[in-house]
Amino acid sequence: MRAEEMRHMYVNFFNERGHKEIASASLIPDNDPSVLFTTAGMHPLVPYLLGERHPMGKRLVSVQKCMRTDDIDEVGDGFHHTYFEMLGNWSLGDYFKDESIEMSLDFLTNVIGITVDKLAVSVFEGYEQIPKDEEAYDCWKRMGFKDSQIYFYGMKENWWGPAGETGPCGPDTEIFYDMGTDFCGDGCGPACGCGKFVEIWNNVFMQYNKLQDGSFVLLENKNVDTGMSLERILAIYNHLDSNYETDLLAPIMERLEELTNTTCTDENRREFHIITDHMRAVTFILGDNKKIYPSNTGQGYILRRLIRRIVRLIKKLGVSENILPLIAETVISVNALVYPELSGNQDYIMGLLSNEFTLFDKTLKNGLKVAEKALSVLNNGDCLDGAEAFRLFDTFGFPLEITMELAGEKGISVDVEGFQHMLSLHQEKSRAGAKGLFKGGLADS
Ligand code: ATP
Ligand code: MG
Repeated sequence: MRAEEMRHMYVNFFNERGHKEIASASLIPDNDPSVLFTTAGMHPLVPYLLGERHPMGKRLVSVQKCMRTDDIDEVGDGFHHTYFEMLGNWSLGDYFKDESIEMSLDFLTNVIGITVDKLAVSVFEGYEQIPKDEEAYDCWKRMGFKDSQIYFYGMKENWWGPAGETGPCGPDTEIFYDMGTDFCGDGCGPACGCGKFVEIWNNVFMQYNKLQDGSFVLLENKNVDTGMSLERILAIYNHLDSNYETDLLAPIMERLEELTNTTCTDENRREFHIITDHMRAVTFILGDNKKIYPSNTGQGYILRRLIRRIVRLIKKLGVSENILPLIAETVISVNALVYPELSGNQDYIMGLLSNEFTLFDKTLKNGLKVAEKALSVLNNGDCLDGAEAFRLFDTFGFPLEITMELAGEKGISVDVEGFQHMLSLHQEKSRAGAKGLFKGGLADS
């Protein structure tokens, strides 16, 4: 099945159950300085989840463009992206747990054709004054789930919100697809990162209001907020090993193979995934009508980092020409029907990708001179200081692998441990700086 059909099936399913479709909002949130990107379908709905009346009613459905920089280190596997599309449905003070769970399971079993034995779910186990979510548990049991398929987790895994210090929040229940591999060990379950379970859907039940004094009171108007990755459900529906085999991503992978004249193999699959994922992300960021461009702050900085990572990885595949606009062309053609802003901004996307490539290429060439100078004072058998390798990386954007390659040619080794140490110090610093900025939406559930 193609992505286009899946979007329609999802939206139709909820249309038939009284939900009105809302259009995808921009990837760049309006009037929200607390986050750089829209990270979930609920993001544009925050005012309504807080109680404002939505003009379209109490039941809504959408397909939302999302971007999660927090997940960047996970990208490379088959199921995590920076940019992805989130299918979501909402109840604003209308139906609650039972109906929400029943509809989700109805969709997964009767529309998608997944049998219950291939699923597992997680339910909130309770915390201090907040009781275990017996309602959700009872509902799953009624729907035919065995106790061995129901996992209880606490605040970290199965709780959402509030968005700020106070406000609506509540437990969630998450639905996972069991990939059929063995449990990796004792304690393996949906919360384990081994890949046995892939999260497909999260249903958040906003039933509490967190007050200033830290206490939780029951809300009169309870909301449901759900989110599911289009890429993941499409891959599962089609019995594919990863999202990259769906029609959303496979054409980009193929184009990359063509342009690099390299076949994707087990050895380079991670690089192929990252380039493909990041190319889609940068094309969507540049293609957004907010006209973001590469810079050293905010969204522009994320964009720059993603582009530079792509360039490095493409060079690693042995290509030094600027093939970014050509890959972007494929991203645009795959998505233009649903997201016409991409073709509308095609020239802008291509132009900026070319500029940034040229700029980074120059950076790399300058780095090369500095690297050669640093190596010229060393002799065969010496070791290049980790701090020096890090300076090349940090100040000149010069990748460690290239430094190692150059050093290797002269019989010089590089203190990789020292480099990693400097890098982790730097990452801690920037993570602390960015804290709060990249959070938001279902990301912190
Ligand atoms: P995961 O544990 O797989 O990272 P999550 O707990 O971050 O997921 P939520 O924040 O609950 O997920 O988001 C709701 C849904 O969005 C998930 O059930 C999943 O289908 C999808 N999703 C979340 N993060 C990603 C991502 N990086 N790439 C693709 N889909 C994602
Ligand atoms: Mg996550």
